[in-house]
Amino acid sequence: MGEMSLAEELKRVVRGEVDDTPATLDKNSRDASLFRVVPEVVVRPLDAADIAAVVTFASAKKTEEAKHEEGRAHGSKSGISITARAAGTDMSGGPLNSSIILDMTAHLNKLVELGVQDAVVEPGMYFRDFDKETKKKNLELPSYTASRELNTVGGMVANNSGGEKNLKYGKTARYVEGLEVVLADGEVHTLRNLAGDALTQKLMEKGFEGDLYRSVAALVATPAHAAVIEANKPHVEKNSSGYALWDIGDGVTSLNLARLMVGAQGTLGIITNIHFKLVHPKPYSSMAVIFVSNLSQLGELVPEVLRYKPDSFESYDDHTFSIAMKYLPELAGQMKAGMISLGISFLPELWMALTGGIPKLVLLVEFRGDTQEEALAQAQKLAAEVAHNKSHVSVRIAETELQSRKYWAVRRESFNLLRKKIRGKRTAPFIDDFVVPPLVLPEFLPKLEAILANYDLVYTVAGHVGDGNFHIIPLVDPARPDTARIIDELSHKVYDLVIAYHGSISGEHNDGLIRTPYVEKMFGPAMLALFMEVKQIFDPLNIFNPGKKVGTTFSDALAKLDLPALTTK
Ligand SMILES: Cc1cc2nc3c(=O)[nH]c(=O)nc-3n(C[C@H](O)[C@H](O)[C@H](O)COP(=O)(O)OP(=O)(O)OC[C@H]3O[C@@H](n4cnc5c(N)ncnc54)[C@H](O)[C@@H]3O)c2cc1C
Repeated sequence: MGEMSLAEELKRVVRGEVDDTPATLDKNSRDASLFRVVPEVVVRPLDAADIAAVVTFASAKKTEEAKHEEGRAHGSKSGISITARAAGTDMSGGPLNSSIILDMTAHLNKLVELGVQDAVVEPGMYFRDFDKETKKKNLELPSYTASRELNTVGGMVANNSGGEKNLKYGKTARYVEGLEVVLADGEVHTLRNLAGDALTQKLMEKGFEGDLYRSVAALVATPAHAAVIEANKPHVEKNSSGYALWDIGDGVTSLNLARLMVGAQGTLGIITNIHFKLVHPKPYSSMAVIFVSNLSQLGELVPEVLRYKPDSFESYDDHTFSIAMKYLPELAGQMKAGMISLGISFLPELWMALTGGIPKLVLLVEFRGDTQEEALAQAQKLAAEVAHNKSHVSVRIAETELQSRKYWAVRRESFNLLRKKIRGKRTAPFIDDFVVPPLVLPEFLPKLEAILANYDLVYTVAGHVGDGNFHIIPLVDPARPDTARIIDELSHKVYDLVIAYHGSISGEHNDGLIRTPYVEKMFGPAMLALFMEVKQIFDPLNIFNPGKKVGTTFSDALAKLDLPALTTK
């Protein structure tokens, strides 16, 4: 037995494929982040029972490892673990780990049931496929991301992802009614919000699940803990950092363990089925497009726009616009539009750039309605007010969905274009997702710009202005020997600033390897201790995706940066 590889051992316990070929390991060693961690083996589980078998196997092995702790400390292995991976578009290093990777997209990818206003779906289903199915009943999961053509619904749940409709509809957590999960006991459990008698009964139940509810209930209901949670919960519109202890009930009248799993990046268990509630999207849209030449103008503009309660309030900057123009053919390809007609549609913007310079920021304010007239009337009303009040701001109206497509394409595709097209440089998501209260933006943004100006970096800014959530993506030169130092130094400076403005280090991309070391900075030591307790309650052997959310130091993270290989990409 001691001679068998981990793959050989796993083949005895699972029915799905077990793959440790170099090509598979290499593919699974990267996501959309800056990291590389090569796993030992990739398993493609057939179903929840297969995952349960892997968990039981890993727990036994880890217990055995613990018995030989001393020997292991001298060995090279970091210990057995299980990390779920869906589409691998994570920007934080979330699905990367050194032991067993569970490929959720291979088999666990089906729509189980589509109801009148809800759906049950396996986590490995791509959002694009899920969306096609739900649209047949005019239903939508409105928390879809800019990566909507690439990612899965399970990845969205595990990261608590969000997107362009967040302002009106919130993030993925709002739509999760219940989850089926494999937990540390190697059994399948169903988690959802429990209140009143249902909670009382659950708290009296024997066994692992009863213990779990009792432990978490005690954790949040302890008055000293409740005070820590209340004092340190994020005060911004969106947050994916930490465990959402402030959002799971008081442990006495209600407790929602499914909510705790959402955004936990697979560190508490493996999701095997998702029950979503869905919305009916309004069919028509119009957009006011506001061109801003100076960031200080945001001070007045943001509250003015928010008063109109738009469906989306998004932005991209001058660098993003220039890159989009440079890669117009690729953009046209993504939009399935003709390159010439797309080019022509951008002529007014190009003329604006030639005559007055490229605007610093383009704000996209979308209104949706049951009729085209309803949506257009709102866009026109806002545009008229903005044009009247601000002499240095220009506004354009995209009357229909078709006319606004080009703006959405720039907004949605910019990161993907950067990732794929820029040669010799690499997109470096490390300050890619912070959030500050939107009303502090006029004060915050110049300070941020001043920090960034000290570094010789090209970067793009896009984001969800309405939520104060910005995606700053620097392009780093892999050949520069000081890249790791810049990433470390700049992250500290930017996150210090964000935290000083009571912001969040991650609105939607989550902690992963890149931000786990900053979780204590954001939440403080008392809250970090509660997060560690949550991890300990759910995963006492530290089997599920270790080192994410808790347990990664700054130097651990830096050591995993994929810098030497950058030149070959
Ligand atoms: C071009 C581009 C644009 C993006 N735009 C956005 C955006 O607008 N908004 C946004 O929020 N994000 C965005 N992202 C980040 C990313 O796409 C999202 O976080 C996405 O939802 C991740 O889904 P995935 O299927 O790729 O999951 P993966 O990357 O495979 O995994 C994500 C995390 O979930 C865990 N996980 C996966 N499946 C399970 C499971 N079954 N059980 C438990 N844990 C699991 C993994 O371990 C990992 O920690 C973007 C990324 C790219 C490349």
